[in-house]
Amino acid sequence: MQLCTAAMMLTAATGSPILAQAQNPDARYASWPSYDSTDLELTVDSEGTHFALWSPEAQQARVLLYNTDRNTPAYKSLQMTKGDRGVWRVSVPQQLYGKFYTFQIMHNGKWLAETPGIWAKAVGTNGMRAAIIDFSNTNPEGWAEDRGPHTKNITDAVIYEMHHRDFSVHPTSGIVNKGKFLALTEQDTKSPTGNPTGIEHLKQLGVTHVHILPSYDYNSVDESNLPSNQYNWGYDPFNYNAPEGSYSTNPADPATRVREMKQMVQALHNAGIGVVMDVVYNHTANNDDSNFSLTAPGYFYRHRADGSYSDASGCGNETASDRRQMSDFIVNSVKYWADEYHIDGFRFDLMAIHDIETMNRVAAELKKINPSIFVYGEGWTAGDSPLPAEQRALKENVAKMDGIAVFSDDIRDAIKGHYSNAEDRGFATGKPGNEETVKIGIVASTAHPQVDYSKGNNSKFAYASAPTQIINYVSCHDDLTLTDKLAKSMPGTSEDERQRAARLAQTIVFTSQGTPFIFAGEEIFRDKKGVHNSYKSPDSINAIDWNLKHKNAVQFDYYRQLIRLRKEHPAFRMTTADDIAKHLVFDKVSGSNLISYSLKDNANGDSWKEIKLVFNGNTEPATVNIPKADWTIIAFDGKIDPDGSLGTTRGGKTEIPATSAYILARTK
Ligand code: CA
Repeated sequence: MQLCTAAMMLTAATGSPILAQAQNPDARYASWPSYDSTDLELTVDSEGTHFALWSPEAQQARVLLYNTDRNTPAYKSLQMTKGDRGVWRVSVPQQLYGKFYTFQIMHNGKWLAETPGIWAKAVGTNGMRAAIIDFSNTNPEGWAEDRGPHTKNITDAVIYEMHHRDFSVHPTSGIVNKGKFLALTEQDTKSPTGNPTGIEHLKQLGVTHVHILPSYDYNSVDESNLPSNQYNWGYDPFNYNAPEGSYSTNPADPATRVREMKQMVQALHNAGIGVVMDVVYNHTANNDDSNFSLTAPGYFYRHRADGSYSDASGCGNETASDRRQMSDFIVNSVKYWADEYHIDGFRFDLMAIHDIETMNRVAAELKKINPSIFVYGEGWTAGDSPLPAEQRALKENVAKMDGIAVFSDDIRDAIKGHYSNAEDRGFATGKPGNEETVKIGIVASTAHPQVDYSKGNNSKFAYASAPTQIINYVSCHDDLTLTDKLAKSMPGTSEDERQRAARLAQTIVFTSQGTPFIFAGEEIFRDKKGVHNSYKSPDSINAIDWNLKHKNAVQFDYYRQLIRLRKEHPAFRMTTADDIAKHLVFDKVSGSNLISYSLKDNANGDSWKEIKLVFNGNTEPATVNIPKADWTIIAFDGKIDPDGSLGTTRGGKTEIPATSAYILARTK
């Protein structure tokens, strides 16, 4: 996430002022009662329709009922009565299916603006009114039998990060429902040159999970004016528990939004692909006008000593997961998506704004629903927070978070160069000094006897207790695409040379311990015309041009084979730090931008006795000494084939071509 300010990455090293209790405007919230139940806000049963709003300091509360999702007056107002634990309630004996509602509370003697609440599970246009629908009618046929892929360990996943519009909106996608949930339900779609697009493309590439950018109801895109084709990444949350309207074919129909998102999940599951949701509980689009503020003013956010909103998100506010009702909200929200929508994983935006305890609850509760669900997030904030650094779900604290993974900015920047300095180069583009940090990435930031963390560019200690805690990547929706980064940092090179560098970069990512993650379209060398923060750029910047799949067919095939290599060989997917320390052995090499290592002794039950990997990030050939043995060549000079068609070698002195990976395997 990087949309409000140029994100300044703060880590545990950053001092965080711990506010004195007397000055802390948030101290009073500690005495508020919390209420943890799934009956909050709306339930419908045989007795009727029941409203329950948590708002401990409201002076009055009411429900307004509507016949339509907008532009009509309320047909009824229901006064609520305050009961236990700060919860206001009112019921009617009818099942109000088809109606809409909002809440309104009196605060400091004034009625605040109406809000759909914080638990609206279905909403109409622009999410202004919550809807009362029968969820059993939103399930596509076969939904009861719908299951995501079984994922024993997160390291078995290959994650593909996509935005609905990027993926399908270009005319060359051949997809009818462009930019919609339904785009991912269309079968056998093709580009003008006959290359598979859409879901078939994902199957062909071999990814195990798609990570979709925010798909809850966000604020920025005007759902009442879809023909204007607005674009936004969606990191501006509005209704956390209802699908975004602009991705449905009819935002005004709450059930359609829900049903079409489920159809998407089901179609991906039928293709053997899991769905990861990008969740952004760390801040809201609005401050005083947010649904949190209009429900229980002040409570859900952190503040500075002067009472102003603190801003660790860089977006104007930060939520307060360290308060019980907010912590429960996050936990119950992800549980809801997992239960109702069969979501297979969650990616937490600016996760370090949340406290460690909440994140541990998230992971534990999700595993109870489905052991295959995994959780990962950005282990940093975008500004300072009143939450003490030792309580933050930071990358550096990930060892305290069982079952949670963090993005490795270590491997990302070491491979390609600094994320925000466009011209900076990295290991794969010939800049010396990144070798040790790439090695930190290769061992997934776990303790390893041959890795000197004091030489790390970013983190200086082995922060992961297991490789299952690390997501490896070289680019994502934030910052320049790899294609654009290479163009800016390698001026004067040919596209062919830059594609070689991309192949080397991703080969390091996909063979490293931890979980690989790729930004959609990188496999066909998509770019974003040099725009580094395209959060609201038009389709002309963000859309993937599927003609590139034909143009860059060689590149696509390399990625496809690289993913196959990883999936067929558990040696790349070890699950413990001990296994890595035992089976992954670095070789001595001379010269910079050169790394050589082996995965030994049938690591993690691999059928191959030993796998040798040499990465030459120099723009010139380099020579290494390969031990004498019967080796099968898996990758050489920018080509890869896990089946071994590239030939064999007896080892010895070997020249590795410029900017390329050399991978060998021996079976005995
Ligand atoms: Ca919306």
